[in-house]
Amino acid sequence: MVENVVIIGGGPAGLAAALYTARANLKPLLFAGSPPGGQLMLTSEVENYPGFESILGPDLIQMYRAHVQKFGVSIIDQNITKVLFNQSPFTLSSAEKSYQAKTVIIATGAQALWLGLRNEQRLRGKGVSACATCDGFFFRDKIVAVVGGGDTAMEEALTLTRFAKFVYIIHRRGEFRASKIMQDRVKKQPKIHIIYNAEVTDVLGAQNVEQIALRIQPSDKILLQKSKKEIEEATPQILKMKVIDIEKDYVVGQIPVDGLFIAIGHRPDTDIFASQLQLDSKGYIITSERFSLELAKLKIQNSKFKTTIENSKLEEIKNKFDLNFHSATSVPGVFAAGDCVDYVYRQAGTAVGTGIAAALEVEKWLELSSK
Ligand SMILES: Cc1cc2nc3c(=O)[nH]c(=O)nc-3n(C[C@H](O)[C@H](O)[C@H](O)COP(=O)(O)OP(=O)(O)OC[C@H]3O[C@@H](n4cnc5c(N)ncnc54)[C@H](O)[C@@H]3O)c2cc1C
Repeated sequence: MVENVVIIGGGPAGLAAALYTARANLKPLLFAGSPPGGQLMLTSEVENYPGFESILGPDLIQMYRAHVQKFGVSIIDQNITKVLFNQSPFTLSSAEKSYQAKTVIIATGAQALWLGLRNEQRLRGKGVSACATCDGFFFRDKIVAVVGGGDTAMEEALTLTRFAKFVYIIHRRGEFRASKIMQDRVKKQPKIHIIYNAEVTDVLGAQNVEQIALRIQPSDKILLQKSKKEIEEATPQILKMKVIDIEKDYVVGQIPVDGLFIAIGHRPDTDIFASQLQLDSKGYIITSERFSLELAKLKIQNSKFKTTIENSKLEEIKNKFDLNFHSATSVPGVFAAGDCVDYVYRQAGTAVGTGIAAALEVEKWLELSSK
């Protein structure tokens, strides 16, 4: 049997695509992955999903699933482990079985990268977060720290200044790798205090985040010969740092914070597509919309903006994208949506929107290809 459409991914993007393709009578088959549900399963309160003042992430996913099942979608809570897109119909395999499909919507999402601190996962949702847009609101007039040195960390810190009293950016090197424009914005923002050459070694707190533990390499080495009290006095008062120990090159200390935002990047779940589709240098799936945008940036802005698609490659791959379909990938008939494509917004609402767009495009694509 050849399916009309197989959807890979059971988060907001995949479920939205399933709803629309089911209502278009395409009888979609949805592989929701193992564990299913995606990133919203890892969060507690969601307060920015339109229509819900507040809802638990797992409850929202449960409601999506019930909604698509009502329209007859078959959900299989397994991973697709292999795909073959070089001939149509496409072949997709799980650990148990192979399937054939005329079209595929990939919505495999992404995962935030974490630091691996001892108490990081225990305090996730209790002050530890990887999304300022999602959780910044909970830190009104509080003190928060952002870890990272790239554009994402700058964005997160700037977003947090709308809510928090102070925002520390903690970076393990002596300078940021973020774009100059973002660095300038951060450095001009009076609520932001930057701590360079510092490594967060743990996050502490019984129920909620209360402190972070740090190893700071002072720019003035003479500081290392002073007493704990003298170092505390020499440290900006705003930090209220407690010195715990003085090592050969480092001051080991703790500073009180209410929140810790980890902004060291995301990893899209796209490994199984690497040999089949065009991905950018970070593993995000390139769709025709993204491709057109990068090409326009290159041509109009004279490559002033950084892109994760090599400029030289843009010309080479240009014939692979059908610009009639925004969510088309480099293989005709394979579409992609949600956080496996979107490295910018990464929200449930935007994932739903692109999932819907991919579903509508599949419908149109099947209609055109049957003529
Ligand atoms: C802690 C946290 C809090 C957040 N809070 C909010 C918030 O308050 N508001 C908001 O709008 N957004 C929030 N987000 C972001 C939001 O969750 C994501 O933007 C959204 O879930 C992306 O949806 P998606 O469907 O693209 O991907 P995901 O949610 O990542 O789902 C991907 C799905 O694909 C499946 N999958 C992966 N590989 C395979 C495979 N090979 N085969 C089959 N299935 C596969 C996974 O199991 C999963 O089901 C938060 C994210 C996190 C991590």
